[in-house]
Amino acid sequence: MTREKFRYTLDKVQHPEQFPATALIIAPNPPIEATSPPLILLAEDNEANIATISSYLGARGYRLIVARNGREAVSLAKAQHPDLIIMDIQMPGMDGLEAMRLLRADGKFLHTPIVALTALAMPGDRENCISAGANEYLTKPVKLKLLVETIKHLI
Ligand code: MN
Repeated sequence: MTREKFRYTLDKVQHPEQFPATALIIAPNPPIEATSPPLILLAEDNEANIATISSYLGARGYRLIVARNGREAVSLAKAQHPDLIIMDIQMPGMDGLEAMRLLRADGKFLHTPIVALTALAMPGDRENCISAGANEYLTKPVKLKLLVETIKHLI
């Protein structure tokens, strides 16, 4: 034992109050199982919006599937069970309101978060979306940061 080490040991024995208790080393928790990133169903008929939203969400690690009308959205949801649905309201054929009503009527989609998107910022629009089953409502043009914040809040 070196002189310094001996001095240290002696001090520690004689003046224990000057030596804080050794930090308890706790084994790190086992690593969290790698889960696959959330799957998002984007129901949107506008190709420019599809491109913008899917590249933005894709860059943030989300997996994305795309439907281009309400009917496709419902069948894709049933086939793939997304973790969240982004639902444009104005779509050809079956619109987003009708698609949300159908999904909410299906017991499997009672709790799937749905974010409605609409270009019409009309009075009563929000109420229509919420009563059809949307959890949140965003107006177009969609602010992408806000969309991601909304997704994180809901998943
Ligand atoms: Mn549309």
